[in-house]
Amino acid sequence: MAELELGRHCDVPDCRQLESKKCEEAKSKKRKGAKNSETAAKVALMKLKMHACGDNSVPQTERIYFQVFLPKGNKEKSKPMFFCSKWSIGKVVDFAASLASLKNDNNKSTSQKLRLCHAVSGEALPFEHTLETWLSDKDYPLYNGGNIILEYLDNDVLFIEDTESYFSYLLTSEKMADPWQECMDYAVGLARKAGEIIRGALKEEISVMTKSSPVDLVTETDQKVENFIISLIKEKYPSHSFIGEESVAAGEGSILTDNPTWIIDPIDGTTNFVHRFPFVAVSVGFVVNKKMEFGIVYSCVEDKMYTARKGKGAFCNGQKLKVSGQEDITKSLLVTELGSNRDPETIKIILSNMERLLSIPIHGIRAVGTAAVNMCLVATGGADAYYEMGIHCWDMAGAGIIVAEAGGVLLDVTGGPFDLMSRRIIAASSQAIGERIAKALQIIPLRRDDATN
Ligand SMILES: [Mg+2]
Repeated sequence: MAELELGRHCDVPDCRQLESKKCEEAKSKKRKGAKNSETAAKVALMKLKMHACGDNSVPQTERIYFQVFLPKGNKEKSKPMFFCSKWSIGKVVDFAASLASLKNDNNKSTSQKLRLCHAVSGEALPFEHTLETWLSDKDYPLYNGGNIILEYLDNDVLFIEDTESYFSYLLTSEKMADPWQECMDYAVGLARKAGEIIRGALKEEISVMTKSSPVDLVTETDQKVENFIISLIKEKYPSHSFIGEESVAAGEGSILTDNPTWIIDPIDGTTNFVHRFPFVAVSVGFVVNKKMEFGIVYSCVEDKMYTARKGKGAFCNGQKLKVSGQEDITKSLLVTELGSNRDPETIKIILSNMERLLSIPIHGIRAVGTAAVNMCLVATGGADAYYEMGIHCWDMAGAGIIVAEAGGVLLDVTGGPFDLMSRRIIAASSQAIGERIAKALQIIPLRRDDATN
C-alpha cells in the first residue's frame, strides 16, 4: 500500500498547501481525462463482450472486460479479455498471461515481473489488491471496457514511465502491419466530401453531355469530382497509379499493373444523377498486385457509406454486412442493369438473358441504376445476386471487395474466375446461385478495359 500512496498521491499534499492555480488545472485535466476514458470504455464494452475470452465459469454479473495491451515486442499487440471483479490483481495477471501465452515467472524470485499497469497513470497495480478496489478508485479508476497494459517491469520499477508513447508505439506497429489502412481512411473522407459536392450539384441545373453513345451521359460534376479525388490522392501518394472513368474517357490508359492503383468512378449512376433518381454513388477501389485491398462505395443521396478492407469484413455506416447466403435460385431476387448499349443485337441478348432467368423461375429482377449500389445490395442480403456484361473496372472495383468481404462470391459470367478488366461479373450470395446464373447467360462479346488495340 505504501508504494501505491507514493505513486498516486504524492502531488496532492503539496497542492493543498500551495492551493495553486496549477493544481486546479491539473485536477480539471485529470477529471476531463477520466471522463474521456469512461466514455470510451462504455463504447468499447459492447465490442469487447463479443470478442473477449476469459473464464466462462465467472458469472456474467461479475465479469469485467478490458482491452489488454500485451508487452512490447509481443507478436500480438493486444487482446480482449474478461476477468472476475473479485479476483486479486495477481490472479488477473496469471490468468491474462496464460490466455496470451506470455512467459510468467511471477512466482519465482527473478529480477523482472509481469505487471498489470494502469493505462493512464502507468502505475503497476499491487498484486494483492482486488480488481474491485481499482474499479472504485477515486483518482485513477479502471473502467469496465477500458484499456490496461501488461508489461514486464524490473522489481524496483513501479510505473510505465510514459503510457502515451507506449500507445503510440502500439498504434504505429499496427499501422505498419497494415500499410493500406491509412489509404483507406483517407479515401473514406474524400468519398464523403465528393458526395457532398454531388448532393450540392443535384440542387443546381445539370448540363448533360454524351460519351460513347447518345445515352452514355456525362456531366461537369463527373469530371469535377474525379479531378477532386485524384488530385488529392496524388498529392498524398504520388507514386500510386490511377484509373478513373473520366480520365479514361479523356484518353488516359486503363492498364492494370502491380503498382498500388486507385480505380475511381466519381459518379456511378450518371443517368440517375441527371434525372435526380436517388441512387448515385462515389466508388473507389484500391488494388495492389492486381488484388483488391479495399473498396468504398458512398451512396450519397441515401448517405450510406459502404466499406470493406481485405480480411476485415464489409460494413455500411459501421454496421457489419452479410450476404443472404441463399443457394436456391428459385427463391432469389436478382439485380442487373440494361446498360447504355443500344445495338439491337446486344439488347436482344440482354432481354433474352432476363427471360431465361425469369422463367427458371426466380422471384424477380431489380435495377437501381448503379452497378456499385446493386452490388452493395447483394452485400447487405437485400438481393441474392448481381450480374452484368458491358460495365467497366471502375464500376466493380469498389463494390467487388464489399460483396466478397460480406461473404459473397465473385465469378465471371462463364462461371470461371472473376477478372476485374473483363467488363463482366456475377456477384452472388453463394457459389451455387452464381454458377446457376452463369449457366443461364448468353455471352455478349466485349472489348476488355485493358485492350491495347
Ligand atoms: Mg461514372
